[in-house]
Amino acid sequence: MSGQTWRRALVTGGAGFVGSHLCGRLLAAGCDVVCLDNLATGSRGNVAELQQRAGFRFVRADATDPAAWRALPGRFDLVLHFACPASPVDYLRLPLETLEVGSTGTRHALERARADGARFVLASTSEVYGDPLEHPQRETYWGNVNPVGPRSVYDESKRFAEALVTAHRQAHGTDTAVVRIFNTYGPRMRTGDGRAVPAFISQALNGMPLTVAGDGSQTRSLCYVDDTVDGVLALAASGEPGPVNIGGGEEITMLDLARRIVEITGSSSRIRFVDRPVDDPGRRRPDTRLARERLGWQPSVDWTEGLKRTIGWFSRSVAA
Ligand code: NAD
Repeated sequence: MSGQTWRRALVTGGAGFVGSHLCGRLLAAGCDVVCLDNLATGSRGNVAELQQRAGFRFVRADATDPAAWRALPGRFDLVLHFACPASPVDYLRLPLETLEVGSTGTRHALERARADGARFVLASTSEVYGDPLEHPQRETYWGNVNPVGPRSVYDESKRFAEALVTAHRQAHGTDTAVVRIFNTYGPRMRTGDGRAVPAFISQALNGMPLTVAGDGSQTRSLCYVDDTVDGVLALAASGEPGPVNIGGGEEITMLDLARRIVEITGSSSRIRFVDRPVDDPGRRRPDTRLARERLGWQPSVDWTEGLKRTIGWFSRSVAA
């Protein structure tokens, strides 16, 4: 954590996939952690182990509810705002809630950070670049987003949240940062959440066909969750306002990903091509020069190793 230590952190969305890994890392570094989560897409299981440790507290509450914020006692020196449905299946099921947590939820989190004098980090996303016309995507690129397309509830929620963070910083001097996270994968992803990695792994482990969208030539740059958490905490520990891209360096096609998962699992599954979702981005790769130069961060887990670890976790969860 670049020598920075926090005494007490608040992680909204801490019972989700990325948030629970963040909570675990902060606790391991000696920081007390309050996890505020309404369990809309997260689970108690994700934090069950953390709840055995001193210094961790789970609060089931909605980040858009002002009473929930008032009920949180004490002062935080770090606020990580990660609450938000993040997979397409989730945000299409919860469209208004997704917009609400990006707007009202972000405002409450910012106000708390300002009141407490805390460092604030917004979990933004590569989706702010939409279906990008510039490749790879640099932080200076403004994006190509369809404001009324089905994905807009997520993309625009995050774009608005970024604007809110920027305005808060300018108007009140709040110590803010924005991290634009690219596709992250790892243990604790949910099988039915519609994202390619958990879908392919569970299909391969169950001997079902791997459903590849379109012709599978669309690319993503996968980042293992431990690397993403390192990047988020490096940004938190810096004075940088961002936005800063955090994501994997190696771009792979969805078809290659499916084949690799079949190979690692030793599955007999075949590939089945299905319709591609509307506005599905064709190419996605971050330019991470800023993170490297300003934060000294770069991903260290290559995707074969990361996939092995993730497949291992899924196999154990299926067996449990
Ligand atoms: P996730 O769905 O596993 O976690 C989100 C968490 O937020 C869940 O625990 C959910 O219950 C909680 N939540 C949602 N709405 C809430 C509300 N109103 N109040 C309180 N809690 C609420 O998703 P994730 O993949 O862990 O993503 C975490 C964050 O990182 C999100 O903000 C997401 O946009 C961002 N992000 C993730 C990725 C990725 O690849 N996983 C990429 C880019 C950005």
